[in-house]
Amino acid sequence: MLFQDLNLDPSIIRAIEDQKYKNPTPIQEKAIPSILRGKDLLGCAQTGTGKTAAFAIPILQKLTKDSMNYEEYNQIKALVLAPTRELAIQIGESFNTYGQHLDIETGVIFGGITPKRHIKVLKRDPNILVATPGRLLDLLEQGYVDLNNIEVFVLDEADRMLDLGMIRDVKNIISKLPKVRQNLLFSATMPQEVSKLVHSILRNPVKIEVKSKPSNKLQIKQQVYYVDEPDKTSLLLHLLKDKAFESVLVFARTKKKADIVSKAINIENIRSKAIHGDKNQSERQKALERFKNKEIRVLVATDVAARGIDIEKLSHVVNMDIPNVPETYIHRIGRTGRAGMGGTAISFCSNQEIAFLKDVEKLQGKKIEVVQNHPYVLMNIAIKQNREKYSEKPELKGNKKTSSEKPNHKKDNDRKSNSKNNNFTKRKEKVTNKKK
Ligand code: AMP
Repeated sequence: MLFQDLNLDPSIIRAIEDQKYKNPTPIQEKAIPSILRGKDLLGCAQTGTGKTAAFAIPILQKLTKDSMNYEEYNQIKALVLAPTRELAIQIGESFNTYGQHLDIETGVIFGGITPKRHIKVLKRDPNILVATPGRLLDLLEQGYVDLNNIEVFVLDEADRMLDLGMIRDVKNIISKLPKVRQNLLFSATMPQEVSKLVHSILRNPVKIEVKSKPSNKLQIKQQVYYVDEPDKTSLLLHLLKDKAFESVLVFARTKKKADIVSKAINIENIRSKAIHGDKNQSERQKALERFKNKEIRVLVATDVAARGIDIEKLSHVVNMDIPNVPETYIHRIGRTGRAGMGGTAISFCSNQEIAFLKDVEKLQGKKIEVVQNHPYVLMNIAIKQNREKYSEKPELKGNKKTSSEKPNHKKDNDRKSNSKNNNFTKRKEKVTNKKK
């Protein structure tokens, strides 16, 4: 299928051509005609599938078709809710990209910047508003935003909103929207709470499920390194010596860890920045821009700060830890291997995280390749490997230690596991002796 087959305005087609997109992605092929027909839509898709364009293009098309009078021209007709400021900014950029030859205004509002700047955005009378829930609610309560003319409502990454505790704010905003409207809901996963929301707001929706670009999936190479927690930063620095680690996004569990890791990388004379919730918006945006422009080689981020980041040609994603929610792992590794580019996702796994790794493997239905040879192999794995190595060596056979010299791990284990049996045997002996 071609974009030309989708009955789009020539100005939108021109903007798509400027982006050098050849064909619509599967989600775009299915979603664009349904949205244009006015249907509600449930999209089960991750970032990287082209889902932003899948809703942005038809919304722009609908607004182009609307013959707006002067009053309507100054109204907010479409509202998009996104879980993070980075994602909100990116969605806003997408509307501006695909709508660059149209006279449609998009405004973006999010937490972390002064309300004054948002009021300036709203004064420009956007037709499309992209917002994070908390800040939008503040502005709504202060009477700065009028949502009475919303015709299309988009809830993007609904499952992330749930993770980030935003569902109450979202429901609150929905209650303030006009009852008759078109609803589009996107979520990579469908936890119960999101499923409830789906049933309460969508009317007879078209369902589209895109697992993530199959070609992308093949392109992401996944590897795991077993390593003790205190050795993880050293292992990262060791890997970064390899120039193939050209543009690396590192995930750290906490803000503090992100700062520590980024500092350690800087000490090695490698350009790195940390982004997380304690950094203000302009610092985060600046770091992202410099990372996109390849002025920074390693960006260290927490999950919240990195959500929705869309960077082409990211060579590696490194997980300093294995997330305890396996879906988070999928979101993280989806940052690389985008738009058909190759990429490697590396995860560091300590003893305490092995159970989380198993969950990730279960979700993906496949094992992740273990890198055995590295200088910081997890202690018990190293011992196991050495044991296997030496037990295979034939020269050790004739050199066997006597049982009293050998470390008695097996005996210890046998003793533990057989303790019940031993007690049982002892009891039995006692009874037999008594009988005698
Ligand atoms: P998204 O899933 O919306 O985060 O989009 C992921 C990336 O795919 C973005 O960098 C888009 O610019 C790109 N993209 C969207 N639609 C297409 C398309 N039809 N062909 C090629 N790239 C696309």
